[in-house]
Amino acid sequence: MQIYADNAATTKMSDLAIETMLPFMKDTYGNPSSLHSVGQEAAEVLMAAREKMAKYLGCEAREIYFTSGGSEADNQAIVSAANRGERKGKKHIISTAFEHHAVLHTLKKLEKQGFEITLLPVGEKGIVNPEDVKNAIKEETCLVSVMYANNEIGTIQPIEEIGKICADSGVIFHTDAVQAAGHLKINVKEQNIDMLSLSAHKFHGPKGVGALYVKSGIVVSNIIEGGAQERGKRGGTENIPAIVSMAAAFEDACLKIDENSKKLTKMRDRLIEGLSKIPHSILNGDAKKRLPGNVNMCFEGIEGESLLLMLDMHGVCASSGSACTSGSLDPSHVLLAIGRVHEIAHGSLRLSLSEYNTEEEVELIIKAVDEVVGYLRNMSPVWRDLMEGRRTHVI
Ligand SMILES: *Cc1c(COP(=O)(O)O)cnc(C)c1O
Repeated sequence: MQIYADNAATTKMSDLAIETMLPFMKDTYGNPSSLHSVGQEAAEVLMAAREKMAKYLGCEAREIYFTSGGSEADNQAIVSAANRGERKGKKHIISTAFEHHAVLHTLKKLEKQGFEITLLPVGEKGIVNPEDVKNAIKEETCLVSVMYANNEIGTIQPIEEIGKICADSGVIFHTDAVQAAGHLKINVKEQNIDMLSLSAHKFHGPKGVGALYVKSGIVVSNIIEGGAQERGKRGGTENIPAIVSMAAAFEDACLKIDENSKKLTKMRDRLIEGLSKIPHSILNGDAKKRLPGNVNMCFEGIEGESLLLMLDMHGVCASSGSACTSGSLDPSHVLLAIGRVHEIAHGSLRLSLSEYNTEEEVELIIKAVDEVVGYLRNMSPVWRDLMEGRRTHVI
């Protein structure tokens, strides 16, 4: 038995996404920049994929730029807005403390180049207060970048309100919508979004492909210099099979948002209910304003990495909030941002579901986590100290 509950890290490709790709490797394999018919066929397919992406984002095809994924889209959006700001003598950027590293590290780089960066707090619930955005905007502000939904704790941000505040102040608003795209409704015009990043592998499309929406009129800066692809803004022969597959997966996900959201919310709430029965556990992030498939909890006296390894032995693939991938022992910047103390932040567990998960799997996950947490606590000297009163409970 293997239960995959790490869909915030990446998703399985759907059969539709795989089958959509194949003809564009076997038959329509041309380079869209070629003038001959094989190339022109690819150019038409590329245009159709661009139109499809635009349709489900509520924008124009010419406002879509294909990228290698969410990270590149985030980099390009931020650098474009920063360059535009610099030309106008505006070098202040507002973002939040719990963005993805594709955003945070790009901002760090800009800070070294003389930009002033304001990272807003996200509160205990993991939701940005639009008033804070309003208060932080000043004459020199050239960009506000706030993610649509957080990748660790799944909390959904008041994007539309923030977009309105930015529009009223004439500041560009970018949102990293990598976790939201295909899962939550998006309409960039109605939500006052100027720039938006998404990535195919978070909605059952292929890895290594994504898109950046940029409202027309905003000059886009190149991250990758090269040929005239993507209206001269992103050099490199277009990855047609992946782009076409992404467009098909995005359309499919958008058409199923209501259905999947209902199904996942039910499973999510059952997971939260079941896991909350474990003593000294706490949910991270707002209980309702979160992605339909996201559960993130901390268990006192538990070390995240041990929990994950033992869950894997029980057939459950999950993730920890802490930076285990980087090999560092620093707790997650997201959990610290919502005010979790270090020792608690180390014991976090993220379970992220997709429509391929079942209610039976949810019950098995609850049972496995309950068993593993009990087992690890029994072996833990920290837990013994807590039980025998030499240490006080934090949760
Ligand atoms: C996954 C993710 C990214 C990075 O996307 P890639 O396509 O893997 O580069 C960026 N932001 C968020 C919120 C993500 O979840």
